[in-house]
Amino acid sequence: MAGHTSASFLKKWLGDQAEVIVVSPRPDYNWIPSNIWVGVGLLKPSQVLFPLLPIYEREGITFHQARATVLHPEGHGEDLKPFLEAESTREGHEGEALKVPYDFLVNATGSKLAFEATPGLGPKGHSLSVCTAPHAEEASRALDEAVERMKRGEHQRFLVGTGHGTCTCQGAAFEYIVNLEFELRARGVRDKAEITYLSNEYEMGDFGMGGIHIRRGGYVTPSSIFTESLFAERGLRWVTQAHVTGLEKGRADLEFLEWRAASSA
Ligand SMILES: Cc1cc2nc3c(=O)[nH]c(=O)nc-3n(C[C@H](O)[C@H](O)[C@H](O)COP(=O)(O)OP(=O)(O)OC[C@H]3O[C@@H](n4cnc5c(N)ncnc54)[C@H](O)[C@@H]3O)c2cc1C
Repeated sequence: MAGHTSASFLKKWLGDQAEVIVVSPRPDYNWIPSNIWVGVGLLKPSQVLFPLLPIYEREGITFHQARATVLHPEGHGEDLKPFLEAESTREGHEGEALKVPYDFLVNATGSKLAFEATPGLGPKGHSLSVCTAPHAEEASRALDEAVERMKRGEHQRFLVGTGHGTCTCQGAAFEYIVNLEFELRARGVRDKAEITYLSNEYEMGDFGMGGIHIRRGGYVTPSSIFTESLFAERGLRWVTQAHVTGLEKGRADLEFLEWRAASSA
C-alpha cells in the first residue's frame, strides 16, 4: 500500500524530472482490507488482486518483479553511489540477480507474518488466515466444508483472533468475525455454530488506539459498549486480555496476558 502509493504520487508530481522504479516480489497489487470478504467467499481473489505491470507501463514507472535482499545506502567498494541488490521472482527468471541504483529510497516492506512465533499457528499448521488473498481463499474453502458439516447436523466451533499476543491487526479480526456470523446466518446454519473472538486488547472496541467515543443520537458511547452490544446482539462470545500460545488440530491453548493474570490471581 505505502510503496505503490508513493511510487504513483512521485511519478505524478515529478513527471519526467525523475525515474521512478518499483521493486516488489509479487506481480499483483492486493487490496488487503478486502481479503476479509474473500475469506467468507463473498469476493473472489481476482476481485482483490490486479496486475501491476500494465499500470506501471502506462504511468511510465519502471517495475522490477523482485525481492530486495541488500541495501547499500553508501554504495559498495569502488561504487560510492547508493544501490540495492535484489533477486528476481519473475516466472522463469527466479533468483536472477539485479542491481538497482537510486538517489532516494522509499523502503515500504510492511509487516512480516510470523506464524512461526506460535506453535501450530498458520495455514501450514492448524489455523487459517485472511492476511493474503491465497490464505483467504483457503479460509473460504474451509468455511464451505464446515457449512456442509453443519448442514449434516454437526456442531462447529469457530475461534477468530489475531494470532500471537504481540499482533495488532484487531480491525481485520473484528471485521472477519462479523462477516463470518453474517455468512453463517445467510447459509442457514447459524444455530450450529459457536463463535468466539479472542483479543489481546484490554477491552472490546479498543482497536489498537485505546478505544473511541462515538457521538450518536444525542449520546456519546464508548466503543467498548458499542462493540459488546454488537456482539451480544449476534450471539458472539469474546475473550479479551488473552492470546493463543499453541494450536493442535481442534484445540487452542490460551493464556491470559500478564496484567490480567496478575489482577485475577
Ligand atoms: C485482512 C486484513 C484487513 C485489513 N483491513 C484494514 C482496514 O480496513 N483498514 C486499514 O487501515 N488497515 C487494514 N489492514 C492493515 C493494512 O493492510 C496494513 O496496515 C497495510 O497493508 C500496511 O501497508 P504497508 O505498505 O506498510 O505494507 P504492505 O501493504 O504489507 O506492503 C508491503 C510490501 O512490501 C513487499 N515486500 C516485502 N519484502 C520485500 C522485499 N524484500 N523486497 C521488495 N518488496 C518487499 C511485500 O510483498 C508487500 O507488497 C488490514 C490487514 C489485513 C491483513
